[in-house]
Amino acid sequence: MKCIENYEGFSKISYNNYSLESKNMKTKKIKRPVCYLVGLLAFGLMLYSCLQDETDLDSQETTGKVIKGKNRELSIDVARSWYEAHQTPVVTTRSVVTHFELMTKLHWKKGYENRKGKFEVVEVPLLTRGGAVLMDRETMEKYKDTERGKIRNISRMVIIKNLETGEIINFVMHIVGTYDYLMKAKHFEDNSYLYRAPDLSGSVYFYEPEGGLVNGWQYKDGKIVATISQGTEEGLEMQANADTRSESSECHYESVFVEYDECTPFIYEDPEYGIGFGIECRTRTKYETKLVCNNIYYDKDGNAHTWFPPEVDGGGGVGGGYQPVAPKAKAIFRNSNMTDNSWKTIENLLNKMTKTKIGEALYHKLQEALKGKTLIIQFISDNMNSNFDPGLGGIKMRMDITSSALLHEMVHALQSYTEQETWNATQLNREFEAHLIQQIYINSLEASERTWWYEKSKNDSRWNATRLLVRYIDEFGNLRPGVTEEDLQKILNPKCIEDFRNVGYNNVDYPWLNSRKGSDNFKNLQNLYK
Ligand SMILES: [Zn+2]
Repeated sequence: MKCIENYEGFSKISYNNYSLESKNMKTKKIKRPVCYLVGLLAFGLMLYSCLQDETDLDSQETTGKVIKGKNRELSIDVARSWYEAHQTPVVTTRSVVTHFELMTKLHWKKGYENRKGKFEVVEVPLLTRGGAVLMDRETMEKYKDTERGKIRNISRMVIIKNLETGEIINFVMHIVGTYDYLMKAKHFEDNSYLYRAPDLSGSVYFYEPEGGLVNGWQYKDGKIVATISQGTEEGLEMQANADTRSESSECHYESVFVEYDECTPFIYEDPEYGIGFGIECRTRTKYETKLVCNNIYYDKDGNAHTWFPPEVDGGGGVGGGYQPVAPKAKAIFRNSNMTDNSWKTIENLLNKMTKTKIGEALYHKLQEALKGKTLIIQFISDNMNSNFDPGLGGIKMRMDITSSALLHEMVHALQSYTEQETWNATQLNREFEAHLIQQIYINSLEASERTWWYEKSKNDSRWNATRLLVRYIDEFGNLRPGVTEEDLQKILNPKCIEDFRNVGYNNVDYPWLNSRKGSDNFKNLQNLYK
């Protein structure tokens, strides 16, 4: 298989005629065991699939070249309607650990299209509140007032469509030049997601549309020299206090500064003219801390590679692109304090879940209900139970949660959108449905897992009641052949109700809405595939 294009294959580094697998194997053999060539392993992410068919005319025509202003599917108008249906007009990027925050608005009139290979991109400049400008420490310290006009950066919303999968994603991109580069660069604004100027020296940062730093790259003379990830203030302090920087350390902390005007209107009384209004502005500075790692090397053909010791392998590749951690999880959940490892835990559960038909359907149904918003996800200690908390607007889960338990809570999250009016009266009705969907999901897993689950739950009356329900209702929520609504209603009330009550689903916390009969209790299941 040849990878001729990928999400990030736009930079100076050429992937054409570059076989990832063979290169990977070769390099592994010659490198020390701790040095893993990660190369382009970000491919696992759903958006980065390799083109298998190299004879595809369309990609041959465009591979390696950025074509401006001629998008065929993702025009500015299409991007705008997509964006307005999914995202908020005001975009706040903020750091997880520092006090960095940047409020911006999209300037659609200045948006533009470009494409390369199977990716079509629309970039829209972001107008920052208070005229905020990002700069590195050197620029901050060196620049004179007369040079103010040259201190600029690129802040854009990037909207990308993968023509193969039809998937559209968006994120925020900031490009911050070094002082020397900004002073001499004539076409700084030409830098874009798909194109980096051959003399670019500086940093490219990718942020979630409403959140923190995802990843970034540092450039020197148009070549990638380092990877960037979120830093911490503690790390920055520790580094400042350390006498000498360890020789072997590839990573260090850096700050990027945000200078903006903070204006406050005020009222004053003039002895001659009476009441007047004024506005007072002050320039303020905030900073954001980054961890910069010099882990890039170039092979004899000029191809860039990155390596990480396995324990910090963030799945990073090389190429200057956007590399989200846990895209599936972050599409429906949020938690600004969660580590990448925790995100990956959730991603793995979702990957497992969406390999089944019912898990895939539920994931998409919930995503549809969320309309671009996200649910909060929190880890709780292992002596508590995972649950969907409507007050929190999200799911509390144990670190050792199984994919089926997460699926159960996702059913409740979906119910919170579809059953708002009857929410308080139907707790037990909704539990029946969540249990049934969970059992149907487990039934679609491998035999060993089904057995494990059966052994674990065989003495639990509610799970035995749920398994009884499976004999009446099929995987689409419909009555099985030969079963009538009356038959189903008879086992729901009183049998199933009693079986749930026996294991703690009391009638105070879990009322049963008796007017809801038979298969009407499984409407979300019935609608999963619609
Ligand atoms: Zn439940």
